[in-house]
Amino acid sequence: MLKQRPFLIETLTAIGLIAAPFVLPLLGFAPNTVNRILVWGLFGLGFDILFGFTGLLSFGQSAFYGTGGFVAAYLLTQAGFPYVLLALVIGMIAAAATGYLIGLIALRRTGIYFAMITVAIAEVFFFVEFNPLSDYTGGENGLPGVPTPSFNLGFTTLHFTTGWSLYQFLALCYFIGVVIALRIVRSPVGAIFSAIRDNPLRATAVGHNIHGYKLAAFVIAAAYAGFAGGLLGVLQAFMPPDAFTFDTSGQLVMQTAIGGRGTLFGPLVGAAVWLSLQDFLQATLGLGAAWKLVLGIVFVLLVCFLRRGIVGGLVDLYGLLTGQRRKAPDESAAQDDAVAAEAPPARQTAAAPMPARQRAGADPSGPILQAKGLTKRYGGLVANSNIDFTVNHGELRGIIGPNGAGKSTFFKMLTCEVHPTSGSIMFEGRDITGMNVTDVCQLGLTKSYQVNQLFAGLTVRENLVIAALSALRGKFKLDLFRSIDSIPGLSEQVQHTLELVNLAARPDTPVSELAYGEKRRLEIGLALATSPSLLLLDEPLAGMSPRERVETVKLLKSISQGRTMIIIDHDMDALFELAERVTVLQEGRVLVEGTPEEIKNNSTVQEAYLGGVHGELAA
Ligand code: ADP
Repeated sequence: MLKQRPFLIETLTAIGLIAAPFVLPLLGFAPNTVNRILVWGLFGLGFDILFGFTGLLSFGQSAFYGTGGFVAAYLLTQAGFPYVLLALVIGMIAAAATGYLIGLIALRRTGIYFAMITVAIAEVFFFVEFNPLSDYTGGENGLPGVPTPSFNLGFTTLHFTTGWSLYQFLALCYFIGVVIALRIVRSPVGAIFSAIRDNPLRATAVGHNIHGYKLAAFVIAAAYAGFAGGLLGVLQAFMPPDAFTFDTSGQLVMQTAIGGRGTLFGPLVGAAVWLSLQDFLQATLGLGAAWKLVLGIVFVLLVCFLRRGIVGGLVDLYGLLTGQRRKAPDESAAQDDAVAAEAPPARQTAAAPMPARQRAGADPSGPILQAKGLTKRYGGLVANSNIDFTVNHGELRGIIGPNGAGKSTFFKMLTCEVHPTSGSIMFEGRDITGMNVTDVCQLGLTKSYQVNQLFAGLTVRENLVIAALSALRGKFKLDLFRSIDSIPGLSEQVQHTLELVNLAARPDTPVSELAYGEKRRLEIGLALATSPSLLLLDEPLAGMSPRERVETVKLLKSISQGRTMIIIDHDMDALFELAERVTVLQEGRVLVEGTPEEIKNNSTVQEAYLGGVHGELAA
């Protein structure tokens, strides 16, 4: 929705804001209600980037709303600062700086613990506002007398006082807020935010510093909150202490859920529903405090029946009416077969092998990877014991071993997903023992997972974009206002990968609609799109039908050109066909290593591992 035509959403927003003073009074909206909706909408733009796009549910946004609001109000009422707009910007900066510090603490935890920390911190802010800082904040009285903005243009002075006059100023602020938010969600950073929401583990593994990006989302949300908090003071000519209460944070979350998270406009629509219901039920019907009961029922019904909120529901309806609807699952399964039948075999793809990363000074003839004495203990259990392992540049190595032999643990150690209890790992001549998975991916070593780790809410192309961005931009870059389409080499790299993994016919298909074999290929594609110089594949053929296996073996052969790969798989026929050398693991140790012929004919392997099938394999 957000990427359709350039400036379409911006233009529609501008038209809506210009039309609102003419249309909304006809629907019974008072100007003050509309102004309050705009302030909540602006507050919610940042929150939606944090919650809807990055998946971080904070219940502590009141801390930043209050901070921005009180800093601006203090400057304008107590410190004699005359410039309203500048005071609002200073309040916003103060809130963003506070957000940075709070984010450093809160983002150390995820999920419910993160949410709880934000609640606790907001409570601390509420307490501080009332007690130690009451000389500055007015305590429970708040700060009255916040002025409205006026701008001296030389020949005339523009005053924005109350009602529709103040609306013009607030609408302009909201419009600028929308333009900035749209730039952010369309930037590479915005794409990575969505990846973090869908699968933080994989976002880390494809080489993004997700902690840095989460912190960025947190600061952005705090900045929006701070500016909106300042506007609240301007709107009411008074900065109320309840900006800091938990109710404020809770109302923001509920309004966003009602309006639709991940839509940017959801919080605005949610605020419109909330405030108009409040006006109608409280004032018109005279329900008093009982209006919240009705609101609660409306909330439950909306969240149950419109899971993507009002804006999300409207977008889906628009898709239905214009024929752009997403396919039903059974329909897509039927089409999957058709596409699979039409898709060219992997060997016939036109894609040239994608260049792997080359580290300056790396010797392309020697070993690319050397592990010495790698041991991993889980309590009393030794998953890997004293493994020595060397792979040369350009080699295609296979690893086999029975279940529980320690193969996956070995891969996890090589990619630094888990750290060895003892031993060392050298990659391209550099000691990577103890490094993290993101840095190792940035150096050119990554893996595809045994169990798919995809970005489930994104399309095939968007998945590959996330991985390719890490190769092209490094692990952290705040290019917040750059269009993702303007990154040199990105579309070529994504297209190459699509062709290599035989998904070029399905780039815009959401992951949830892919057939299993396609998901497996995308899993490999994610690792491949990071341009690794050493690619590890953990059971790439797992769960595939015999036909899919044949196709995937062809595909792996084409991928291996110009690249070093290590493959774990249980399908020995496939592995013996692919690999130049094979390492056999058993009970966490290297049992034997050799060419496929040597392994097939090795009596220890036949006895210890291949058992009854060795005759067939050796034949
Ligand atoms: P394979 O991939 O060859 O099937 P794994 O590496 O998954 O083997 O597991 C090797 C052994 O290590 C198994 O006994 C498994 O139960 C144990 N193991 C793996 N991961 C953990 C973990 N996180 N905690 C405890 N034990 C583990």
